[in-house]
Amino acid sequence: MSEPTFTVIAPIYNELDNLTLLYQRVKAVMESTGEPWELILVDDGSTDGSTDLMRQLATEDQRVRPVIFARNFGHQIAVTAGMDYSRGQAVTIIDADLQDPPEVILDLIEKWREGYQIVYAVRSEREGESWFKLTTASLFYKLIFKITDVKIPLNTGDFRLIDRKALDVMGTMRERSRFLRGMGAWVGFKQIGVEYKRHARHAGETHYPLKNMIKLALNAITGFSTYPLQLLTTAGAILVGLSLVLLLVYLLLAIFNNFDLTYILATWLSLIFLSGILLIGMGILGEYIGRTYDEAKGRPLYIIAEGPDEPFDPTRLGKK
Ligand code: UDP
Ligand code: MG
Repeated sequence: MSEPTFTVIAPIYNELDNLTLLYQRVKAVMESTGEPWELILVDDGSTDGSTDLMRQLATEDQRVRPVIFARNFGHQIAVTAGMDYSRGQAVTIIDADLQDPPEVILDLIEKWREGYQIVYAVRSEREGESWFKLTTASLFYKLIFKITDVKIPLNTGDFRLIDRKALDVMGTMRERSRFLRGMGAWVGFKQIGVEYKRHARHAGETHYPLKNMIKLALNAITGFSTYPLQLLTTAGAILVGLSLVLLLVYLLLAIFNNFDLTYILATWLSLIFLSGILLIGMGILGEYIGRTYDEAKGRPLYIIAEGPDEPFDPTRLGKK
């Protein structure tokens, strides 16, 4: 098969009821471009039969290429594998649950043809998501925007088109604590947003519980900022200043011989407060140290049980 112009990547974790419709809609959209394309389905350890359906789609249509993981590695890693195996000149990442309408890919391609290397889809409206998710997501984006070194555009997810040039650079970044949106902003190139309406899930439930959202948020913060570490120094300095003031008060009172029991309580109070600050500080340090340890082990990002014939070769990246 000749090299496709376009690659569409969809990470799949138990999306049996979405898969066929996803394939049909992607196919209709991509065929309308008149260019060769491929659809990479990354199976992130599905247990609901999505894997078999994927194999079947691949035998019926050669343009469907399944990459099947040995277990669940998480959404960001699944997308990474899709990027590693993609062959297109413009690569689009899309959710399999049809929250991101495949038809929007045409708008992304239009901007790509105008010369943009990263075209991210901006959610102007969101449908069928809880108040809690919307509020936490909005707070999260604002926080990230404020404290990280890279300017990640607001209200964007991983739904985006990436040009081969930017994609190859991102492919050389093998960090385990992955936050693809941050990596995309970090590499630079010509970028632009395209607005779209994010729909409700076609079928099934979200696989991104609060626990995973917190994990992704911590990856985003620690991966792109050392601000929390600097915060420790600031907090330390403020506390030392405060204790000096207290020392002065204490000395004055001692001189004028005016002690009573409340000072014992105050001692306890400050002891507990300071221990709290110290433990939080150690926790922040731990987040960074734990990640450093994870990176140091240098394990592969994912394990493929079954997939494209040619194994992924990281040295291939950035050489084209
Ligand atoms: N997904 C995945 N691995 C996971 C969780 C999710 O590959 O561990 C996929 C999922 O199948 C979907 C996409 O990532 O295609 C987005 O997940 P989901 O819709 O559950 O997240 P939400 O849209 O609610 O943030
Ligand atoms: Mg979803």
